[in-house]
Amino acid sequence: MPIPGVTARPLARTYDAVVIGAGIQGLATAYELAKRGVRRVAVLDSSWPGGGASGRNGELIRSAFSSAEWITLFDASLKRWHQLSRELDFNVLFNPSGYLVLASTEEQYARCRADVEVQARFGLRTELLDQQAVLDRVPALNPDAVVGAVLQPAAGFAHHDAAVWGYARAAARLGVEVHAGIEVLGVTVRGGRVAGVTTSTHDVSAPVVVNAAGAAAGRLAGTAGVELPLDMARLEMLVTESVAPFLRPAVAALAALGYCHQTSRGEFVGGTELAVPDHTPSLNGTYRLLRDMAQKFVWLFPQLSAARVLRHWAGLITQTADLSPIVGTAPGVDGFYLSCGWVYGFVGAPAAAAHLADTVCDGRLHPTIAPFDALRFAEGRPIREGSLVVPAQSEGPGPREVAS
Ligand SMILES: Cc1cc2nc3c(=O)[nH]c(=O)nc-3n(C[C@H](O)[C@H](O)[C@H](O)COP(=O)(O)OP(=O)(O)OC[C@H]3O[C@@H](n4cnc5c(N)ncnc54)[C@H](O)[C@@H]3O)c2cc1C
Repeated sequence: MPIPGVTARPLARTYDAVVIGAGIQGLATAYELAKRGVRRVAVLDSSWPGGGASGRNGELIRSAFSSAEWITLFDASLKRWHQLSRELDFNVLFNPSGYLVLASTEEQYARCRADVEVQARFGLRTELLDQQAVLDRVPALNPDAVVGAVLQPAAGFAHHDAAVWGYARAAARLGVEVHAGIEVLGVTVRGGRVAGVTTSTHDVSAPVVVNAAGAAAGRLAGTAGVELPLDMARLEMLVTESVAPFLRPAVAALAALGYCHQTSRGEFVGGTELAVPDHTPSLNGTYRLLRDMAQKFVWLFPQLSAARVLRHWAGLITQTADLSPIVGTAPGVDGFYLSCGWVYGFVGAPAAAAHLADTVCDGRLHPTIAPFDALRFAEGRPIREGSLVVPAQSEGPGPREVAS
């Protein structure tokens, strides 16, 4: 059976642009390039569209962050998510049912309060909720886990496969060739300009190459002589059987290092992270994380103790030291572009792809993505985003991992 959006054509030897990776970033970038009139665009993926993190993620979508850089980029994305089904002519199942960033300690709550003030300065509509206001919205939450929250009413979640398929099909309609099962072995550079890629079948020449290879992005950039400070990390998720509706908004729980939502079919979908990131390059789920997720989600929502887990899976991402993506031009190699190091790459894709395509077509770094350039680490300009669900923010009450 054909994979939606994947071409039946053989891979040509020349394109106007080659995108490495048919995750949401690569597909969205190819779609945006084609929309801007770039004619012969190929997306090459060693597996299949959505086979990487884009088909394995928690699907959560928000722009309520704490830094100017993140708010600007991700709010541009959130606005696009609201139009995406119509634009792609495909239902990406975007559900703007709200997003709670949950504080379980006074310190986290103080951070939420400061974030809401910053968000207001950027015109975001968010609210600081106290404990009672949170429990009124989500009575299923354990009161001991709630001090307060930031609510972003216009945020929510979408379906990750639907978003990937939507972009793949819309790109294909514009003439983009999405090739599955083609591995890129290296990026070819001649005289400081990108010349194309070497693949598992043959060499392909192209004046523009976009590296959106997810977990492999660092290695592939290295083949072009571009060293990127990327670390691989394995994340895990679970989904339960359908249960009666109890959770309308998406929730990110700072103390549990967890994020979750309930689908319209009733499944509870969530993932948690450990205090120490897991750098194992494996797609196998682990019992350790399964137990961590079960403990933390039952702590947050006690009624889940009776729910059965249907599936549990893992996905790989790459991340930078400041946990912000690298989007823009590759230093020292003309025509080589980067969209990698994505920790929140599902929500970020619509705007990042559009502005990366602007950058390719205009020959000028779009101001929204400019702060996310690759040189910021070497030049001491890290982005300081403080509202991410990451290990450094996991202090305070909450279930702790139990030693085996
Ligand atoms: C468990 C989990 C939960 C997450 N939750 C969220 C969330 O709630 N919200 C959010 O915004 N983000 C979330 N993320 C992160 C998000 O999924 C990623 O940031 C995003 O999917 C990155 O998209 P991408 O297109 O850059 O990479 P990917 O989707 O990983 O795509 C990269 C593609 O490149 C291909 N590839 C790799 N090497 C090669 C090669 N040599 N040649 C050709 N192709 C190659 C791969 O097969 C893959 O298809 C989560 C991630 C995980 C794993």
